[in-house]
Amino acid sequence: MDEKEAKERSKEQNDQLFSKIEEMLPKEAEFVKAEFEGPDIVIYLKNAKAVYQDDAIVRGIASSIKKKLIIRSDESHLMEAEKAKELIKSLIPEEAVVASIKFMPRFSEVYIEALKPGLVIGKGGTTLKNISMQTGWCPKVLRTPTMTSDTIAGVRQLLFNEEDFRKKFLTNVGKDINRALTKSEWLKATALGGYREVGRSSLLLETPNSKVIIDCGLSPEPAVRGADANTDVNKAFPYLDSANLSINELNAVIITHAHMDHMGFIPYLFKYGYDGPVYCTPPTRDLAALLLKDYVKLVIRSGGTPLYEEKDVRKMLMHMITRDYNEVTNITDEMKLTYHNAGHILGSGTVHLHVGEGMYNIVHTGDLKYGFTRLLDPANTKYPRIDVLFTESTYGGNGDVSPNRHDAERTLMETIKRTITAGGKVLIPLFAVGRSQELQLVLESYLANDGPYKLDVPVFLDGMILEASAIHTAYPEYLKENVRNRILNNRSPFESEIFEVIKGERAEMVEKGPAIILASGGMMNGGASVDYLRMLGDDPKNSIIFVGYNSAGSLGRRVQNGLKEAVLPDGDGHLAPLKINMNVHTVEGFSGHSDRRQLVNFVENIRPKPKTIYTMHGEEQKCEDLARALGRMMHVDARAPMNLDSIRLK
Ligand SMILES: [Zn+2]
Ligand SMILES: [Zn+2]
Repeated sequence: MDEKEAKERSKEQNDQLFSKIEEMLPKEAEFVKAEFEGPDIVIYLKNAKAVYQDDAIVRGIASSIKKKLIIRSDESHLMEAEKAKELIKSLIPEEAVVASIKFMPRFSEVYIEALKPGLVIGKGGTTLKNISMQTGWCPKVLRTPTMTSDTIAGVRQLLFNEEDFRKKFLTNVGKDINRALTKSEWLKATALGGYREVGRSSLLLETPNSKVIIDCGLSPEPAVRGADANTDVNKAFPYLDSANLSINELNAVIITHAHMDHMGFIPYLFKYGYDGPVYCTPPTRDLAALLLKDYVKLVIRSGGTPLYEEKDVRKMLMHMITRDYNEVTNITDEMKLTYHNAGHILGSGTVHLHVGEGMYNIVHTGDLKYGFTRLLDPANTKYPRIDVLFTESTYGGNGDVSPNRHDAERTLMETIKRTITAGGKVLIPLFAVGRSQELQLVLESYLANDGPYKLDVPVFLDGMILEASAIHTAYPEYLKENVRNRILNNRSPFESEIFEVIKGERAEMVEKGPAIILASGGMMNGGASVDYLRMLGDDPKNSIIFVGYNSAGSLGRRVQNGLKEAVLPDGDGHLAPLKINMNVHTVEGFSGHSDRRQLVNFVENIRPKPKTIYTMHGEEQKCEDLARALGRMMHVDARAPMNLDSIRLK
C-alpha cells in the first residue's frame, strides 16, 4: 500500500467511524462535527445538553467504538466568557476557594482552579454538570497546591498561552494515531540504554508500522558535569543513533517517571526535531519541568554546557499528553498504553502496552517499589495480560536484602539523636523528588510526637526539596491514604512547623547550634548537599547520613567509601579543597527501589504470570543475579539483555 493509498484508506475509515458516532447520537443533540484530539475523539454539538442529561449515551458510544469520547458545545453555543465566569462563581460554594477561572475557547473548555476541587465538582459531579448545562463550556478542575509552587503555576500558564499550538498538535497526533494500517507481523525490542547499568534508561519498541520508546534518560554523572567535561560522554545518553533510528520516525515517547535517568534526554530530542507526543502522568509532567530546568541551571553554574536549553524543556512540556493510572490510551493504531502505580515516586508508573489486537502484552516496571513506604502504596501487580516483563534490578543482587522499615527508622533516629546530643549537625543528602518527602514524613512523625526521639531541633530544607514537596500537595490522590487525608484537611505533613526553609543564608545557619539538614543532590554530583559537605565536612562532631542510592563513581559513593580529602569545583567554578572528618553513616531501608526480596515478591505476585522476563536498571552483576534467580523460580525464560541487544518479541 503506498502512502497516498494509505491516506485515502485512513480517511475513509475515519469518516465511517464519525458517521457511526453521529448515528448513535440523539437527533436533538444536533451533531456539528467529530475530530481526533490526541488519543481521544471530540464531538461538537449544538445542543450538548441533550447528551449531558443522560450519561449512558456517551458510555454506550464509547464502549461500542472502544475509544474515549469528549462531548463539547459548538463554539456558536458557548455563553460569552465574562457572563459564564459570573455564573460559574455563583454555582460554586465559597468554601471551594476558587483561585482562577480561565477559558480555552479552542477546546470549549473552562479551567477552574480551586483549593477544594471536590466542592467544585459537587456530589456525584452535579455542580460540574450544572456548569456545562448552563454555560455550554466543558469544565475542568485543577487543584491549587497547598504550598505555593512556581513550577505548577508555570506549567499551567504555558499550556494556556500555547492553546492554539496545543489544538493543532493534538489534532495531528490524533491523525497519526488513527492511520489505517496493515496488520503488523512482528514486534521487536531494542535496549538503547540502562541495561546492565543504572542510568540513561531507554527501550525502543518497533513494529513494521510504529516506533515508540519507553524512557529516554541521562546517566547521572556526565549529565551533571556537562557534555563537554572530561568524562565518558558516550555513556551519558541512550544509543538512539546506533539503532538506525531517525528522530522523526518516532510515533511516541513514554515516560515511566520524572527521574533524570528516565527522562533527562527528552528535551534533546526536541532540540533535534522531534515533534511528537510525550506520554506521562500529570505529576510526572510537573516534576519533570522542575528537574529539567534545574539540570540546565546546574550545568551552567558549574561551568559546563548543558545538552539543551530551557526553551527545549518548554517545547517538551508543550508536547506532553498526560494520563492518570488505569486510563487505557491508544498511542498508535496498534498500541494501547496504560499506567499503573509503581510505588517509586509521585506519579511513577509501570507501563502496560497492548500491541495489536491481542497480539502481545508488555509490562515495563520503570523504577519499582514493592514494599512499605510512608508516602506511596506499593506497586500494582494486577494486569490484564502479560507476555513479557521488563523489570528493574537496582537492588537485584543476591545479597541485596535491606532491613525492614521499622528497624531502618530506629537506626536513623538513633544516629541523628547521637549527633545532635553531642552538639553536631546532621546532613542528609537526598533526591529532591521522592526520598526527600519520605524522609520529611519520617522525621515529622518522630520529632514532633512524644517518644524517645522527640527532639527540639530544627530541620532545615534546602535546594529543590521545598518545590518538590509543593508539587506533592497538588496531587494528593496519588499519595497514600493518610498523607492524602492530611493534605485534604489542610494539615499537610510537608508544612509541619518542624521544617524551616533555607533561603540563601546557608553559612549563617551553619554557625548556629545542632540541626538536621535535608539537602537536595542525592548522589552529591552537585546541588545543595555538596555545599553543605564543604561547610560541615571538617568538623568531627557532625554526621552525614546516606539513605538513598549512590551510583558508582558519584561523590556520594566515594564519601560513603571513606573519602577523606578531595578537590572540587566550588559554586563559582573554581577548584577548592574539601576535608571530610565528619562521621559517615549509611542507613539502608529507605530506598524507593525494591530490595532483592521485594523484587522477587513482586514477580511472584504479578498476575497473570509473564512468559518471559528481562532484567534492566541495575549494575551488571545484579541484573544477571536477578535474571538467574527469577528464571529458576518462575520456570520461565529470564535474561539480562545488554545495551544494543535487539529481541524479537513476536
Ligand atoms: Zn527513579
Ligand atoms: Zn532510575
